[in-house]
Amino acid sequence: MKRTILSTLALATCFCCLSTIIFGVAEAGTGPEVQRHSLPSRRDKVRLRGELGTRYNAATCNLLTRTDRYSLDSLKASADGREGALWWDWPGDQIGRWFAVLDVAEGYGWSQAAWQRAAAADVILPLQKKDGHFGPPNVLKSEDIRIPSGNAFAMSGLMEAYRDTGDARFLKAARRSARYFETIAPRWETKGPRGMLHEFYGHCIDGLVALYEEGGDHDQWALDLAERLAARAGRTAHTHHSLSLCRGLIDLARVTGRREYLDRALDYVKWCRRNQLVTGGLPETMPASAQDEGCGLADWIVVNLKMYELTGEDRFVDDAEHMLVNHFFMNQFHTGGFGHLSFDQRIVGGKNWQGWNGRFGSENPGCCSFWGQWALGQAGRYIVTQDADTVYVNLYPEADVVLPDHRAVVRIDSDFPRMSRATVTVRTAEPTRFALSLRVPRWADRVLIDFPGKRIERTPDEGRIALLHTWTGETPVAIEFISSPRLVAWPPKKPLGVAMFDGPLCLGLSSDAADVKLPWTVMLDEDGTPALDAQGRPQVVDPSGDHVQPLFPIAADWLVPDTKNPRRYRVLFESPAKP
Ligand SMILES: [Zn+2]
Repeated sequence: MKRTILSTLALATCFCCLSTIIFGVAEAGTGPEVQRHSLPSRRDKVRLRGELGTRYNAATCNLLTRTDRYSLDSLKASADGREGALWWDWPGDQIGRWFAVLDVAEGYGWSQAAWQRAAAADVILPLQKKDGHFGPPNVLKSEDIRIPSGNAFAMSGLMEAYRDTGDARFLKAARRSARYFETIAPRWETKGPRGMLHEFYGHCIDGLVALYEEGGDHDQWALDLAERLAARAGRTAHTHHSLSLCRGLIDLARVTGRREYLDRALDYVKWCRRNQLVTGGLPETMPASAQDEGCGLADWIVVNLKMYELTGEDRFVDDAEHMLVNHFFMNQFHTGGFGHLSFDQRIVGGKNWQGWNGRFGSENPGCCSFWGQWALGQAGRYIVTQDADTVYVNLYPEADVVLPDHRAVVRIDSDFPRMSRATVTVRTAEPTRFALSLRVPRWADRVLIDFPGKRIERTPDEGRIALLHTWTGETPVAIEFISSPRLVAWPPKKPLGVAMFDGPLCLGLSSDAADVKLPWTVMLDEDGTPALDAQGRPQVVDPSGDHVQPLFPIAADWLVPDTKNPRRYRVLFESPAKP
């Protein structure tokens, strides 16, 4: 391709800016310890279809068409910290999440988003207080940790709005907000356990890093503050806020090139892994809690995908996908929103906390419904990532992804979320050469790839398949994921029972069909493999031996309207006796 001098200059200029931003803080003479492995797709280059598209659209409509619930008056109430918004006592929280939701929605083509953002800005921005925060005035000495927490979401959302619009009002407001965090830092930076950074305050790091990235040298102080805070990040209790803090740590590692921030996030991820349910579920409060929280599940997906972005390790995609298609999808209600379900190793789902006098059932439209939509939108960006030479297919939901740098479009057709097969079709208007790197999921026994003229077989231990090829016209790559129903003893160290998986999907017994409190037992065939019914479903039998039930994916019946009294699913069963 011919490149004009002008565009070469433009690229050179861009690269200078980028190198300043990415490597600016690494010491002279030393390279960054952390660099991006590949770039996620821009949202406006992704079109979600199939199951993920349906769930994303349901989540988006649940917010952006509900102007009764999320009115401009409610945004004003959030900005002032007075009654009138759902979580009004976390000032600014709804503002930040609203801008985050609009950022995702606009990217995926919600044509009203720009108008909705502008209308919100006009009523919110004048309500920012002189100290830079939202909420009641004169709170710099307040011991109410909800105030900084809500404001941290506000600052991050203001930066999203600035990135979306280039409107200097948002940058200015975020800068004032960051000064508020700087002022109150001494009150909170050692207030976590054992002198750690308090996670309700500490999740302001992502906003501080974003401010530095957009403001550059002028806002170096924001990066300095973020680094000062990050040095005290540790294993704090509230899962959602801690994982939001981890998102900031990962951003900080990317921007400074320093590995220590990534390691701190990884330490938290490892702690979470040890406390997960077999469904992927995480407790609302670490290390154990009576319920989950949609926000925490959402952050887990995004943290893992961001870890992959910097490391290229498929372990993180495997973990994100496991949560996505199992516990997170189960947590989504027929309204499209997310919330809280009971949390237990053996039986997941069911009624627990229901706020606002039960008005929304177990959905939490004050935070989880926002964050679930946001995470679904973020996940879409990681279906395909890319670098200069390679297009990485990481997840297999049905989607179209435009790759301007590679002058190609990737279309994925599949039976996601079961994923027994997928076809990845590369389309180009003119010949273009790159490697197509296909993830081999950990849950598959092996995958078979049919590429024109080639048949390749690969196991997860062998890693990805990279097809280096000059792509011309339309080229389908057919993938078959080979797996059979399998039993997983859980928890791994001290199993309380066995779970049944079909491909990536965790199967359960619904309280709609049976008494899930009973210790049901997995049925085996004579050869020791799970006994399947006529429709190919694994089965369990109750203690009397009289009742047999088939199992099905725990997230399959999410459109059943049971928000007020959600179903429960037994997911751990007795180890089957040999027949
Ligand atoms: Zn929440």
